[in-house]
Amino acid sequence: MDCIFCKIVAGAIPSKKVREDETLLAFYDIEPKAPIHILVIPKKHVASLADAKKADEALLGRLLIAAADIAREQGLARGFRVVISTGAEGGQTVDHLHLHVMGGRQMHWPPG
Ligand code: 5GP
Ligand code: ZN
Repeated sequence: MDCIFCKIVAGAIPSKKVREDETLLAFYDIEPKAPIHILVIPKKHVASLADAKKADEALLGRLLIAAADIAREQGLARGFRVVISTGAEGGQTVDHLHLHVMGGRQMHWPPG
């Protein structure tokens, strides 16, 4: 499979892991856009949020709970942002669902 995040899950591409369980993996973004910038991904290949199915409900919940746990562990008590870029116009550049967990600086609205 020609998917960079599937390769990270498989260990074929190295990553700096933050957490891992049987369903998900979290690792530091290679090009951080905030002092803390972590990606949380499902281990199974889901191309984007738009491709998530009813059967993925529990998985999506786990990803969000993991994002909140990670933010807590990273000391982001003052706040953080979770971003899910979806599709070309949504700015998605890797076609494997991922949550950006970003914090450690003031976020602004609207994002670019
Ligand atoms: P998107 O642009 O799809 O919202 O987010 C993709 C993210 O994946 C980007 O923030 C980019 O820096 C990150 N990324 C792309 N390739 C790699 C990689 O090989 N390793 C890691 N750790 N992050 C990556
Ligand atoms: Zn994939």
